Amino acid sequence: MTSALSRPQPEAAPSFYGFSRPRLAGRLAELGVPGYRADQLFAWIYRKHQRDAGSMSNLPGALRAELSAVCDLRLPEAASILESRDRNTHKFVLDLFDGARVECVSMRTPRRLTFCVSSQVGCALGCTFCATGLMGLKRNLRPEEIVTQVVTMGDLNAWQDDRFNIVFMGMGEPLANLASVAESIRILHDERGLNIGARRITVSTSGLVPQIRALAGLGLAVGLAVSLHATTDSLRDELVPVNRRWPIAELLDAAKEYGEKVGRRVTLEYTLIGGVNDTPADADRLAAFARALPSKVNLIPYNPVPGLKWKRPSPEAVDAFAARLYPHAPAVTVRNTMGGEIWAACGQLGGLSPEA
Ligand code: SAH
Ligand code: SF4
Repeated sequence: MTSALSRPQPEAAPSFYGFSRPRLAGRLAELGVPGYRADQLFAWIYRKHQRDAGSMSNLPGALRAELSAVCDLRLPEAASILESRDRNTHKFVLDLFDGARVECVSMRTPRRLTFCVSSQVGCALGCTFCATGLMGLKRNLRPEEIVTQVVTMGDLNAWQDDRFNIVFMGMGEPLANLASVAESIRILHDERGLNIGARRITVSTSGLVPQIRALAGLGLAVGLAVSLHATTDSLRDELVPVNRRWPIAELLDAAKEYGEKVGRRVTLEYTLIGGVNDTPADADRLAAFARALPSKVNLIPYNPVPGLKWKRPSPEAVDAFAARLYPHAPAVTVRNTMGGEIWAACGQLGGLSPEA
């Protein structure tokens, strides 16, 4: 083992956080290290939250000493961590290996802890109300760059609460980077690792219909949220341009299939924009959509983005819209916006900062 491990390795070893346990066992096997060492490494990193190979006491000295040649245990540096006034929301700006930056947000409420992760640097889909959309797509994230967002936020919260939820609602369109997103979910699921069940993970999409079907076919059983935001194709064409490719009826069909296949209600996300999509007729059409599939409706009062014309409706208008929906839609929640003052709220990720 020692001699195999001592062989010169490529300069930068691949990140530990991109390895599923079987793949890590395979890499170790190539070096003559038995597969159960992968289980031990997963336990140290994901269950005991140890970040330093030197203290992994049940590993042989040679493996500990040379682990950095096998896999890289480093987490990305945080360029900044912004904290909301109530200290319950944190926005992280992480520096990636190529200088790109990605943002993720940790949110604590009395009932739960939620980690909002990014799947891409920027986004190509150009929804006209979203800060990330303004950036365009810089690149896809790799699986390890998704997993390390979760680990970094877990470390900040000192892993006090191991029943956190993960939502793919940060920067980017997760289904446009499905291979990496799926691999990160497999790593997050591993029962010898973080062991995050499918019920605690939700993937949000702007409506890439073929990829919704592809996700259903992967058998990951994660929750699906669909960014609807409009009840007519003409308005949705304007707000979510991908609607021109896959209009509302096709999207809702795919969402229904997904919900039925996975046995879970699909979340219909509806960002309320003042004077744009918040009329009583919109509420009635939205209720009809929601009744047509196993679903719940999540209303998101619009979070302003500098330079964009859209406005948040008044609290009374939000209440009136919700009240009109309640009796007719299966389940309605209004998303409590957190972290607006640190530009950490939905749709505000994209290099915005409090000074911006
Ligand atoms: N790209 C994915 C997930 C990221 S955005 C998607 O579009 O679904 C998470 C949610 O916030 C989406 O429903 C998105 O449409 C919504 N959103 C984007 N910008 C927003 C803003 N400024 N205010 C409120 N919600 C916004
Ligand atoms: Fe991309 Fe989602 Fe923003 Fe649309 S709302 S531009 S899909 S991140």
